[in-house]
Amino acid sequence: MNRFFINSIAFLTAGAGMMGCSLQMEEARRPNILFIMSDDHAYQTISAYGHGLNETPGIDRLAREGAIFTRSTVTNSICAPSRAVLLTGKHSFLNGKVDNVQPFNWDQDNFPKLMQANGYQTAMIGKIHLDGIPQGFDFSMVLPGQGQYYNPDFLIEGERVRMEGHCTEIITETTLDWLKNERDPEKPFCLLYHQKAPHRNWQTAPKYLDLYDDVTFDPPANFFDNYEGRGRAAKEQEMQIHGHAQWGHDFKMVVDPNGDSTGFHRELNRFNDKQREDWLAAYTPKNEEFKAKYANLSDEEIALWKFNRYIKDYLRTIKSVDDGVGEVLNYLDEAGLAENTIVIYTSDQGFYLGEHGWFDKRFMYEESFRTPLLIRYPKEIKPGTKIDKLVQNLDLAPTFLDYAGIEIPEEMQGESFRKLVAGETGEWRDAVYYTYYEYPSVHMVKRHYGVATDRYKLMHFYYDIDEWEMYDLETDPMEMQNIYNDPAYADVREMLHVKLKELREYYGDSDELNDYYLKAYLDHRANR
Ligand code: CA
Repeated sequence: MNRFFINSIAFLTAGAGMMGCSLQMEEARRPNILFIMSDDHAYQTISAYGHGLNETPGIDRLAREGAIFTRSTVTNSICAPSRAVLLTGKHSFLNGKVDNVQPFNWDQDNFPKLMQANGYQTAMIGKIHLDGIPQGFDFSMVLPGQGQYYNPDFLIEGERVRMEGHCTEIITETTLDWLKNERDPEKPFCLLYHQKAPHRNWQTAPKYLDLYDDVTFDPPANFFDNYEGRGRAAKEQEMQIHGHAQWGHDFKMVVDPNGDSTGFHRELNRFNDKQREDWLAAYTPKNEEFKAKYANLSDEEIALWKFNRYIKDYLRTIKSVDDGVGEVLNYLDEAGLAENTIVIYTSDQGFYLGEHGWFDKRFMYEESFRTPLLIRYPKEIKPGTKIDKLVQNLDLAPTFLDYAGIEIPEEMQGESFRKLVAGETGEWRDAVYYTYYEYPSVHMVKRHYGVATDRYKLMHFYYDIDEWEMYDLETDPMEMQNIYNDPAYADVREMLHVKLKELREYYGDSDELNDYYLKAYLDHRANR
């Protein structure tokens, strides 16, 4: 990337921040921010993205009435690190939360803290997945760690409280309750409404237990991927739906087809009697039907059954997420808040829905590198806007601050996309940087970093291997053929190496930092 170009963008952004402090802007009512996020929500399951798997009328409203980003990506495709990036506006290697085991330092700046200090009423409701007492919120109600789907515990202002019901519905109800009863009408608000769903293991709310029972889903074209044409990283992962997902935890069988107890009965212990009765009434007949024919099924047929069990549970949890978005948007209408509230919908990363045979995330391949991003702000964003520029989760913190008229701290590395989405500028970065660290660990996705442009991607897998991969998304959108050593792409390869080097310097990453975080990770594993 051209450093001068980046610097001029940063200058423009700082200019917008200063304008925000002008008298004229201060007199105008500052916008509210409703930041909606879900966990592991694949863009493939938002109907506005056009994949045709399901209908999400609630989320789609934001695309229709605002903007949808088609190349929104993350800097590190795993839960807690992505959240740390979202809050701080800094890459993982600078905010320190590179993987799920490193502690998060709440003492560093984050955008809610800055908004709170500048007169915003701030609240965090739902999943945050960062240990320690959240800083920057007037009110917080968060799940401890991953949290539970049924009758979850929450930390309300740090105090542990068990709440009866389904997690997705509780988080929505609490959000509505906060807006109706706790909101200070004298102040603008910044509300983080963050769902746990559709995170593994995709436990459906009672009302949707039978949804999609009469549908059979076809898997993606590369579901039976044999990983030829790629290196060891794609071959040696452990995230295959048919191979690594579990009969009990993932496919919800109390007794597996071989007659073995799976441990899912322990998960059902958390349910109350009515919830357990409804759950078993829905799953038992389907499980028994599968077990009865299991011995006569081919390996491929079993894989397709697993894919369907997985995708249906995943989509059922999405249904509740989307209901919640619809309810909250309706409330903004009723309360007269829609016009002056910026609503963002995103996820902490994307997810595999059978592409390459996988579930989970972590890789820089498209399905987990990309994440949904939709935004509505009637005062500045034209309905039906579509943005194909490369934005990242890194950009949200500076964007929120820009909208609020708060100066963006120098150390934040993202760029505000306020002007871009308003159609006031076409200038934007032409490449983005990615890092992933959590290896060796569950799912065994190797450490890597890389660069992506609108068309190409270059990745370096390191630590116990030293392999480069390169893809042309125009000719190979499913990333099936590594073209790193293809002579026809020699110039592209050189261009990507230059960009990668520039971006690593620009953001302050290095092999030394990789070594530092590797040592910290291995020390943690040795001492646990
Ligand atoms: Ca996640």
